[in-house]
Amino acid sequence: MSDAKIPNVVVVGTGFGGLETAFYLRKRLGKRVQVTVVSASEEFLFKPNTIYIPFGKPPEAFVYELRGVFAKRHIPFVHAAAEHVDPKRKTLTAGGKEIPYDYLVLATGAAMRPDEIPGLSANANTIWSPEEMLRLRASFDDLLKRAKAGKPSRVRFLVPPNNKCSGPLYEMVMMLDSWLTKKGARAQVDIGYLTYEKGYIQAFGPRLNDFVMEEFARRRIAGQKGAIVERVDPGMIRLKDGTSEPFDVLVSFPPYVAATRFEGLASDARGFLLTDPKTRQLQGQPDIYAVGDGGDFPVKQAFLALLQADAAAEHLSERILGEETTAAFDPVSMCIMEQFDKATFAQVPLRLTGNPEMPVAVREDAPGMYRVGSGAVWRIGKKMLGAAIPARFMNGQPFHAGPTWAVMEAGVNVMAAVFSE
Ligand SMILES: Cc1cc2nc3c(=O)[nH]c(=O)nc-3n(C[C@H](O)[C@H](O)[C@H](O)COP(=O)(O)OP(=O)(O)OC[C@H]3O[C@@H](n4cnc5c(N)ncnc54)[C@H](O)[C@@H]3O)c2cc1C
Repeated sequence: MSDAKIPNVVVVGTGFGGLETAFYLRKRLGKRVQVTVVSASEEFLFKPNTIYIPFGKPPEAFVYELRGVFAKRHIPFVHAAAEHVDPKRKTLTAGGKEIPYDYLVLATGAAMRPDEIPGLSANANTIWSPEEMLRLRASFDDLLKRAKAGKPSRVRFLVPPNNKCSGPLYEMVMMLDSWLTKKGARAQVDIGYLTYEKGYIQAFGPRLNDFVMEEFARRRIAGQKGAIVERVDPGMIRLKDGTSEPFDVLVSFPPYVAATRFEGLASDARGFLLTDPKTRQLQGQPDIYAVGDGGDFPVKQAFLALLQADAAAEHLSERILGEETTAAFDPVSMCIMEQFDKATFAQVPLRLTGNPEMPVAVREDAPGMYRVGSGAVWRIGKKMLGAAIPARFMNGQPFHAGPTWAVMEAGVNVMAAVFSE
């Protein structure tokens, strides 16, 4: 299969990390590389926008079929789940077949492990997949019916330890508040938010914490930080400090693990692949890279997956071309949080702390880069990202390259300068 002169790169996964890597390599190296994509899914799911499903958007709106795109970019596609990597023989086993590689990029993402908290699966609505978002829609519709009939309800949101991307649950609680207010049903619903975090959206530093505190006060959402769940009984959250919190509807974002554990490759207890923080090369295996949620960067985010993919693909390109390697992952997170009545933008330069309780902190050496802004205008930014990323991928192009990104980056910078501080 592989041409002896042309390096053969196998990319595993068709999420943000996998697609960005494959299309970046094709764009940067053209015919000087052979790229094969292996994935358990033939589709790309734009997960960030699945937050709209509980409020009525159809799941199909966020799913994109990929086969035609790979054909267009001359990227063979293998629809199979990767099972095993043999770094000595340089083969990947997927769907029972061995696939040889010169370089391997693993972008297999994360999975949820709700069973880590006894009773969570049985008693909570969880957010992760479109199916779970549809179940949450049924719960919210029920809540609305009860409120319209004058019956009170208690809704609680819960972030347990080892959830690695709490932002979406903050979006959900504020979207629910706005949605119920618009429907004239908010007064009947008591909303509370419990998180193990020491600060709200802890990973994004003090300014996001202050923003959430103000929003919770304005929206009459009762927040509790440092609330560590021990178990969930029917209608009751039991916390480690011995207190309990009753609920009628519970919404939680469960603890994270790696979607696929690769036996024999360097990984932590949750299966996340251990990498060089800059190049994303696997520890002890320089020809294998890990990007996105499946790697060991402690914050799991699509934007960070894209940045890691760009760094890994550029590093690999430099090696293939025999250039000096300079590419490095710079963890500057960016997100836009939906709230329906407005949205909040955050750009956060991060550094690793080595402290498992608080594994990242806002970088002190880049104060001008830590920006937060809030307002209705940011909803336009959210819509733009939701359209631009799938459009780039459906055209077989990496997101962070080329004119679309340059225009968007300039736009975001202008908006950040004018509408954030
Ligand atoms: C509700 C929600 C809202 C979110 N909102 C945001 C947001 O606003 N901004 C943001 O930046 N991030 C957001 N995120 C996080 C973001 O979706 C993830 O960080 C992102 O999807 C990670 O990309 P990835 O490529 O690493 O993994 P994924 O997107 O999960 O892709 C993994 C891919 O690997 C494939 N795969 C898995 N195992 C195997 C295997 N063994 N063999 C072959 N293929 C395999 C899967 O089929 C999939 O194609 C949100 C997440 C959720 C759940």
